[in-house]
Amino acid sequence: NKSESTRGLDYLGYQVAPARWHAGTVTSKTTVKTLLILGASGDLTGRLLLPGLAGLLASGKAPGLQLVGAGSDPWSQEQWRERVAGAFSAASGTADDAGRAALAKVADATGYHQLDVTADGPLADLLARLQGPVAIYFALPPHVSQKACEVLHSDQVPAGTRLVMEKPFGSGTESAHELNKTLAALVPEDHIHRVDHFLGKATVLNILGLRFANRFLEPVWNREHIEKVEIVFDEDLALEGRARYYDTAGALRDMVQSHLLHIMAFLAIDAPATIEERDLRDAVATVLRASSIKAPFKDSTRRARYTAGVLGERTVPDYAAEEGVDPARNTETLAEVRVEIDNWRWKGVPFILRSGKAMGRRRKEAVITFRPVPHLPRGFSGVDSPNQLRIGFGPDVLQLDVDVNGPGDIFTLDRASLVTELNAAGMLPYGEVLEGIISGDPLLSVRGDTAEDCWRIIEPVLRAWESGDVPLEEYDAGSAGPAAWPTGVVG
Ligand code: NDP
Repeated sequence: NKSESTRGLDYLGYQVAPARWHAGTVTSKTTVKTLLILGASGDLTGRLLLPGLAGLLASGKAPGLQLVGAGSDPWSQEQWRERVAGAFSAASGTADDAGRAALAKVADATGYHQLDVTADGPLADLLARLQGPVAIYFALPPHVSQKACEVLHSDQVPAGTRLVMEKPFGSGTESAHELNKTLAALVPEDHIHRVDHFLGKATVLNILGLRFANRFLEPVWNREHIEKVEIVFDEDLALEGRARYYDTAGALRDMVQSHLLHIMAFLAIDAPATIEERDLRDAVATVLRASSIKAPFKDSTRRARYTAGVLGERTVPDYAAEEGVDPARNTETLAEVRVEIDNWRWKGVPFILRSGKAMGRRRKEAVITFRPVPHLPRGFSGVDSPNQLRIGFGPDVLQLDVDVNGPGDIFTLDRASLVTELNAAGMLPYGEVLEGIISGDPLLSVRGDTAEDCWRIIEPVLRAWESGDVPLEEYDAGSAGPAAWPTGVVG
């Protein structure tokens, strides 16, 4: 029984940690002294983590931080330092003198350790030698991260250690729960950072600021006035050589399972009392607990896979013919689901979450469509379209579409858009993620119960798709999706 087995895991972070956690002065807010990246030679480290860290260091936000890399490769210290310096070079080029100095200091002093993290002993030995508190970033294949945590004993984890887990967090509700139990035996919940880089501050704070710092929106932000909410992340990129990962994941696991559900949650929460970790994550957890995708799934979900086509200037091959793809897996590259939130505010309002690869138009936005006016005064003519509010996530823009009297015949309605650019994120998303980790603020990381709930919401769909209950449709790369999806959204 799920609720039985969840008891004992205190996701609010008040679980009884070993006495030594409370004996010293280390709290969850103590700044991290050492960032230990496990998986130093990996793709995530080179492409996202190190550049993100560079931005953070260049802006003076992590003074005194030490960086340590570890992995199974027999790298020399020089090889690792070169990798770090290479990843820092872009930030160094645009930084001021102080920023450049901070980057050089970290790049010169960083060290590399060759170790097998799944063996009993080496990781614990390394931890004992590092200056704490240490944040251990598990930039490893998920099963390796899990094994590494299983071989650690709680008395080998010094007080104040943060554990940073990448996505995917488990492969379903049960495995996420087991992983939560493993982590909870090592550190308190508020020392665990489950990364969802979509929760970068700029994106999230844009939604929260818009919703909760403005009087006029909240009274209409409910089922009485909102007809539907669409959250769309369409990419104009195809597989880009990532078959090994993507072909076993697909669009539903890769994008909807955590990223889009979290954006949905931020659009749907009640106003929290504070923008602090406990209040905000409680609000998110409450909304996600009320959320589900309802059967029959052929009505509430759609899936499709791209075939050959033209994307911009490039010809893209059939997904099934891409190197590393097993066509028999039937991996979808476009997923669309209708989530329902069963509470007083949202009952009956569809939240359409959709993400596709190799789409003709890059589109990353949430669109809130309002209900029509109850009565349009007779005498008006022209378009009578519903108000729409668009929140763009890259470029970060806010657009409100309204009907106004037109410039010609004043009784003919015209569409006008009030558009403003939002504060562009100064830092890369991974810079924002690392800032939270280093300052000990889990506000923008996924809480354990929420990680399980995200799986609970999509697991029935995954099962229905695996058993073929919902056909796998096709669309040309570079198109707007399957022709049979005329509105582009689930009903
Ligand atoms: P890679 O396969 O590129 O890198 C994995 C790293 O783990 C390598 O450095 C590898 O070293 C190391 N490693 C594997 N086994 C061991 C071991 N037993 N002991 C020590 N080191 C080991 O994976 P990615 O960087 O792509 O992904 C890492 C994590 O980040 C995954 O959880 C992934 O889901 C997540 N992620 C990745 C993204 C990306 O764009 N790459 C985006 C979002 C999340 P070696 O090669 O020497 O074995």
